Amino acid sequence: MRIGHGFDVHALGPGDHIILGGVRIPHDRGLLAHSDGDVLIHALCDALLGAAGLGDIGQLFPDTDAEHAGRNSGEFLDEVMVRLAKQQLAVGNVDATIIAQQPKLEKFIPQMRSKLAQRLQVTVGAVNVKATTHEKIGALGRGEGIAVHAVALLVARH
Ligand code: MG
Repeated sequence: MRIGHGFDVHALGPGDHIILGGVRIPHDRGLLAHSDGDVLIHALCDALLGAAGLGDIGQLFPDTDAEHAGRNSGEFLDEVMVRLAKQQLAVGNVDATIIAQQPKLEKFIPQMRSKLAQRLQVTVGAVNVKATTHEKIGALGRGEGIAVHAVALLVARH
């Protein structure tokens, strides 16, 4: 078994929705990013790459590369899964905590888990997603951005 950790944060700016875990969520602002800004998928990718000893998402998909502009982050996750398979690794389970002062995410979490489970090739029970506020403390608490912590456990593929 191998364990990995991932963290990512994106600032909020003008926009009318955010994308988290591949789920489009209406909001009065959007996540600023080179890709679609899916900070949950980015943190998960880093947790998976970390567990596999394969570096990080910035090395795999440089944000200086025009090819990745506005890109669906789900494709990043798919590419990470290909790399894991090459190492004979599969996902055991993942767990993530989204830190967002707003919007309320609770009702979108089941959809995030199910979308992520598909891409991670595991059952929904192996994908946990939690959301918390930052208690109005600091930049995250003022709603200037959204951050995600993630951990992943990888197992040998058989
Ligand atoms: Mg990111």
